[in-house]
Amino acid sequence: ATPTALLVGTGRGAQLGILIKGPQVLESTRRVDTIVLDKTGTVTTGSMTLATVMAISCSSEVELLGFAGSAENGSEHPIAAAIVAGARAQVGELPVAESFGSEQGLGVSAVVDGHLVVVGRAQWLAEAWSIALPVELSAVLGVAEANGETAVVVAWDGKARGVLGVSDVVKPTSAAAIARFRELGLRPILLTGDNEVVARAVAAVVGIDEVTAGVLPAGKAEIIRRLQAEGAVVAMVGDGVNDAVALATADLGIAMGTGTDVAIEASDLTLVRSDLLAAADAIRLARSTLGTIK
Ligand code: ADP
Ligand code: MG
Repeated sequence: ATPTALLVGTGRGAQLGILIKGPQVLESTRRVDTIVLDKTGTVTTGSMTLATVMAISCSSEVELLGFAGSAENGSEHPIAAAIVAGARAQVGELPVAESFGSEQGLGVSAVVDGHLVVVGRAQWLAEAWSIALPVELSAVLGVAEANGETAVVVAWDGKARGVLGVSDVVKPTSAAAIARFRELGLRPILLTGDNEVVARAVAAVVGIDEVTAGVLPAGKAEIIRRLQAEGAVVAMVGDGVNDAVALATADLGIAMGTGTDVAIEASDLTLVRSDLLAAADAIRLARSTLGTIK
């Protein structure tokens, strides 16, 4: 009798826009008591737009955007898409970059017109490239972050030249979904590679009070393991390449339908419409389906 009931559950799941990897997934879905949410592309739309452009130590904003846009052209990250689009709008055609490289959750590097360009987290530029952030730029970075923007530093020839800030939008259903998770007795936690200030701003908007920010991709899985060691049964919701290991580590991995293939492959459930409300539906459905079987 059990398989029939489970198949009903998975069929209903498909109607709700939830793809389930197999009936065995319903058991972990039912037991989940903690839900860890990636920020960019999961709680927010991840379709970012360029908001702040501050150029110093270079000839113009156009020059800054040309170098940054060209270097970011090889990256699939939402930050890169925003910078490339913003740069194209102001610069026109971007120079072709060579020797592109990227470090997950940190930034990109490339050679543009013979100059080695690096774009990414201020701390990464300092530690990996020995590029210090002058006070004027660190002030601009602070203001952009206080406004809820994700801010990155642009450098070339070993010198920081400017700051770019991109802004993201919280998905319209995220706050309602968090409220739904709480009704289901789940503990929501926001987990992001982005900085603390931006993460707190998003968390406040959607009603999450536990935030772990500035986490590198490997660190995301580590956080999940720590929660599990404390006895939590953890669902992780994410979309990015940087979420894949955490999604596979969680008791229940939930991918956004708009997410990267690696995130979807690493997960047990996929939300077709990338709407967090469907994750709440999945958990409610699993509980009621298994309740019927007992
Ligand atoms: P999230 O966990 O919110 O999805 P990520 O781990 O992907 O964030 O990225 C964390 C941080 O790494 C970003 O906020 C940014 O500072 C930096 N970063 C990542 N990718 C890029 C990129 N392509 N260009 C510049 N900075 C980047
Ligand atoms: Mg993400």
